[in-house]
Amino acid sequence: MISRVCLVHYHEIGLKGKNRARFENQLIVNLRHALKDYPVQDIKRISGHLRIRISDDQADEKILEAIAQTVSQIPGVARASLAFRTAQQEEEFCQAAVDALTQAAAARAASTLSGLAASGSFAVSAAASSDGFETFKVRARRSATDYHLHTLELNRLVGSVLCEHFPDKKVDVHNPDIVVHVNVVQGDVYVYAHSLVGVGGLPVGTAGKVVSLLSSGIDSPVASWMVGRRGAIVVPVHFSGRPMTSDASEYLCQDIVEKLKSAGSIGRMYVVPFGAVQREISLAVPQSLRIIMYRRMMFRIAERVARLEGAQALVTGESLGQVASQTLENITATNEVVDIPVFRPLIGSDKQEIIARAQQIGTFEISSQTAPDCCTLFMPRRPETHARLREVHAAEALFDFEAALEQLMQQIEYIDTGDCPSYKPPRELRTYHATLGPAAVPIS
Ligand code: ATP
Ligand code: MG
Repeated sequence: MISRVCLVHYHEIGLKGKNRARFENQLIVNLRHALKDYPVQDIKRISGHLRIRISDDQADEKILEAIAQTVSQIPGVARASLAFRTAQQEEEFCQAAVDALTQAAAARAASTLSGLAASGSFAVSAAASSDGFETFKVRARRSATDYHLHTLELNRLVGSVLCEHFPDKKVDVHNPDIVVHVNVVQGDVYVYAHSLVGVGGLPVGTAGKVVSLLSSGIDSPVASWMVGRRGAIVVPVHFSGRPMTSDASEYLCQDIVEKLKSAGSIGRMYVVPFGAVQREISLAVPQSLRIIMYRRMMFRIAERVARLEGAQALVTGESLGQVASQTLENITATNEVVDIPVFRPLIGSDKQEIIARAQQIGTFEISSQTAPDCCTLFMPRRPETHARLREVHAAEALFDFEAALEQLMQQIEYIDTGDCPSYKPPRELRTYHATLGPAAVPIS
């Protein structure tokens, strides 16, 4: 009997040597979590892949497509293939090969057409106007040698059936439009030709925890997504201008976190109502140093949250020279106040590259909406671009930053996203937050 399954391929995990099982198990946990609303029967390791079986009575094409789409967004996944699982019977797997090629051709034609539509071109190419492909090849693989046909014989057998079914198509072993995979594994045969490209990286939960300074701007959501893709659990901290501004930026950050949900990397989000302390700072220090003072305060709070959470690094969306606070001198002046590493995944990226990634992960539109947050509050007319540490220290002596730090830690709020299966909230905070007022109750 032919049934439909999704095969999950990974590259980097395959290189992990002795740790490989840990990475694979984490990926299985993450996939289960991401697919909890789908009719998944089981997820199992088979010969260098993961196989996702769908409950028999609900195995329709649309569900399989949606599952593959969800899987492709999970860090650690290189590709998600929509496969046919058959018995080791020639008739069955050859029929599956015909179906797989037909399906892959339809997907190819659809993507060519949508590509043309997106580019605004009305010249429909030969590939798009025909049935999606001109050439193909078969790539057979046996994971054990207990099957009587060798891979070359399998290639020939399946290839000849496909040539019969698609008489106007040609075999091209070097550069085919479509590859039909035929994998003989543990008593079954898996046939597929249509795969979705995954995000790559490593499973979330294999690289520790980080605290990410998340604004509602374009850069920090991208930076957060990038470290999540490398396997880190991401705990966002947002500094709101409240009570001096509205809470609009907090809602934008919640929308951003909602978009990042598909990667399953976001843990609890913290919100710091920073407006009043910013006002104090702005009144106390020289105007040109305000931004550096705000940022030193933000880093101190983020480090405190990191300690509570057991996170080992901070992450920002800074890019060298992008704005006044991101010159080397000013980055140094901000870094000085924390002891844990600060990662800046976008430090060498241009804005256009960052925008392209933001569009891809779906945060760009949200980030393009303007909302006043702490960054827009009490800004100096001429910010210092090359801060001297001596002056920074002198300015900081003008207000009681220790007291402000304690005050902010008392007012911090959080929202539990439930997105990340490996995220464990800090025990210390359970009692800590129990003492806070109603505004600190988790919003969702
Ligand atoms: P983004 O860099 O996310 O587009 P932005 O351009 O408004 O936002 P910058 O002034 O470039 O922010 O700040 C540099 C970095 O500092 C941000 O990428 C982010 O990591 C952090 N940051 C800035 N504002 C905030 C905020 N309100 N809350 C949390 N982190 C912030
Ligand atoms: Mg920025």
